[in-house]
Amino acid sequence: MTNPASLPTDTGSLDGEQAELSRAASPGVDQPRIERAVREILAAVGEDPDREGLRETPARVARMYAELFGGLHEDPRSYLQKFFSEAYDEVVLVRDISFNSMCEHHMLPFMGVAHIGYVPGGRVLGLSKLARVVEVVARRPQVQERMTEAIANLLMQELAAKGVAVVIEATHTCMTIRGIRKPGSLCVTSAMKGIFRSNVSSRAEIMNLIYGGRR
Ligand SMILES: [Zn+2]
Repeated sequence: MTNPASLPTDTGSLDGEQAELSRAASPGVDQPRIERAVREILAAVGEDPDREGLRETPARVARMYAELFGGLHEDPRSYLQKFFSEAYDEVVLVRDISFNSMCEHHMLPFMGVAHIGYVPGGRVLGLSKLARVVEVVARRPQVQERMTEAIANLLMQELAAKGVAVVIEATHTCMTIRGIRKPGSLCVTSAMKGIFRSNVSSRAEIMNLIYGGRR
């Protein structure tokens, strides 16, 4: 005698599996809740959420938000635990680390590049790890100023660096497609820690390394 309770009740559609996969990729993001909210927004602007072109939109947006805000559920420090012990105590600079983030005031993307320089205090980081840190910090509701500070503070604390300089240049779509509509405007923020804050010539050196030959 077969026991019907032991039979799988859901054979699992492809969509179901994909949803399952993306949920697993971003634990902590409640995608069904995002879907309900997006449906509500569509209705609120006067659209018909059940019209053919929009039917899959709430689920698509939910998966996208799970990706764009996935950094909320990751600790950037996890990328700063593996370093090399080196006596090197000159500037290490990684320029033009591209990123995209979401402005927390408008939930619109801002994107650009981060330049990160530091003077090691005995701990040298694998270069790709800097890009990882930028990525995790960017994939959250953000403001550029806080993002810049956060990256600089993380590196100061976790690497026990002698100095950290972070410069971020970004364009904000909340400034280019709405409001004052200024396409091409660039927002530049910087955070200087340690010797880059206290020593004028160190600061001049790092700024020259970042911008040298470009301006
Ligand atoms: Zn904004």
